[in-house]
Amino acid sequence: MKILVTGGAGYIGSHTVIELQAAGHEVVVVDNLVNSNLTALKRVEQISGKAVPFLEADLRDRAAMERVCGSYCFDCCVHFAGFKSVGESVSQPWKYYDNNITGTLVLLDVLGKTGCKNLIFSSSAAVYGEPEIIPVTEECPRGQCANPYAQSKFMLEQIMMDLQKADPEWNMVLLRYFNPIGAHKSGMIGEDPRGVPNNLMPYITQVAVGKLEKLSIFGDDYDTLDGTGVRDYIHVVDLAKGHVKVLDSIEGQCGLEIFNLGTGVGYSVLDVVKSFEKVNDVKIAYEIKERRAGDIAVCYSDPGKAQRVLGWKAEYGIEDMCRDSWNWQKNHPNGFKD
Ligand code: NAD
Ligand code: UDP
Repeated sequence: MKILVTGGAGYIGSHTVIELQAAGHEVVVVDNLVNSNLTALKRVEQISGKAVPFLEADLRDRAAMERVCGSYCFDCCVHFAGFKSVGESVSQPWKYYDNNITGTLVLLDVLGKTGCKNLIFSSSAAVYGEPEIIPVTEECPRGQCANPYAQSKFMLEQIMMDLQKADPEWNMVLLRYFNPIGAHKSGMIGEDPRGVPNNLMPYITQVAVGKLEKLSIFGDDYDTLDGTGVRDYIHVVDLAKGHVKVLDSIEGQCGLEIFNLGTGVGYSVLDVVKSFEKVNDVKIAYEIKERRAGDIAVCYSDPGKAQRVLGWKAEYGIEDMCRDSWNWQKNHPNGFKD
C-alpha cells in the first residue's frame, strides 16, 4: 500500500517506517522536524536499504498537504505527528490544542478530499485517565483527562468517531499506546528527547551515560507492591509492528476500531531500574521524591483484543527493552547529534 506517515521522523514514527518498508509498503513521510531530526530518516534508509521520500511540512500548512496528498493518492495515513509533552501542555495549552487539533483537522479534511479514507491514529492510554478497570480493556470508559495533552487525544478520538459516523466510508483505527520504550536492535535510532527528559526510560539512560546525576522516583507510597507507580512498558519495535498488523487487516474495511497496544504486564519504577541495572551492568543513582502531580498508581493493558482481531502480540520483554534503550543511548550520548 501507499502510505502517508505523518511525524515519521519522530521516535515511534521512524521505527514504524522501518517495519512498514520491511512489509513491502511504499512510505512517504511528512514531518516539520519540530521534535525530530532528519538524521533519523537517513538512518532508517541505511537500516532498510530503501529510500524514504520526505516532505518537510507542517500539517497545518494546507497547501503543502494538498500538494503531497494530491500527487501520491495514498491508500492509508498513519498519523503520528503531534506534541506529546505532558508538562509543556499544562504550561502552553494553546500551543498543544493548535498543533494537535488544528493539524489533525487539516489532515483529515485533505485526506478525505483526496480520496484517502483509511487512517491509523496514535492515541494514548492517557485517554483512560485513572482507569476504572485494571487491566484496561478498550471498553473501559474514557476518564477525566489530567492535562491538555491527554485532552487533545480524547478530543481527537471524538472528532474521528463523529466524522466516521457522518461518513461511513471512513475506516479509522485508534491505537491506544501504553508506555513505549526501547530502540531498534541496530542501536542506530532511538528516543532523543529535547532538553531534560520527562519520561522514565530516557531519564534512566541519561543517568547511566552520566548526563544526569540521579533519577527522581516520583512517590514510593502508592498502593503497589513496592510503592512506586506501575506501567505497561512496550518495546517500540513491537508497537511499530502493531501498525503493520492493522494495515494487513484494513483493506476493504469501513468503520472505527480501537485497540490497546501494550504487553499486558505491569512493572513498577523500581522494577525497571533494577532490570536496567541487571541487564546492562550499570548502577542507576536515584532518590525518592514526592509524587508527580497528575500521576496515577497503576495502569496496564489487556491487549487481548489486538491479539484476537489483528493477530498481534508484543514479543519483547522488559530486559530487551532495557538492553535496547541502553544500546542506543551509550552509542549516542547526544542522540542524533552524535
Ligand atoms: P515524537 O515527538 O518523537 O514524534 C512526533 C513527530 O511529529 C516529530 O517528528 C515532530 O517533529 C512531528 N510533528 C509534530 N507536530 C507536527 C506538525 N504540526 N506537522 C508535522 N510534523 C509534526 O513523538 P513519538 O513519541 O514518536 O509519538 C508519536 C505519536 O504517538 C504522538 O502523537 C504521541 O502523542 C503518541 N504517543 C506517544 C507516546 C510516547 O510515550 N512516546 C505514548 C502514547 C502516544
Ligand atoms: N517516573 C519517575 N521519574 C521520572 C519519570 C517518571 O519516577 O523521572 C515514573 C512516573 O511517576 C510513572 C512512571 O515513571 O510512575 C512512568 O512515567 P512516564 O512519564 O515515563 O510515563 P506516563 O505513564 O506518566 O505517561
